[in-house]
Amino acid sequence: MPTCKQCNNDVDELKSVKVGGKTKKMCEDCADRAAEEGAVAEESEAVVQNMMGFKGRR
Ligand SMILES: [Zn+2]
Repeated sequence: MPTCKQCNNDVDELKSVKVGGKTKKMCEDCADRAAEEGAVAEESEAVVQNMMGFKGRR
């Protein structure tokens, strides 16, 4: 059984997830968490860009 290096749990399957340009193997839980964190970072960047776009148009 593979072991997730992120949470040290034995899992059925490891997923390959790209985090910060590097591919890491982790369980589904950790992959979800990483995806959430990544989405948050992307979202906040998009929000800043949207706000700047707003100001530019006004
Ligand atoms: Zn894990």
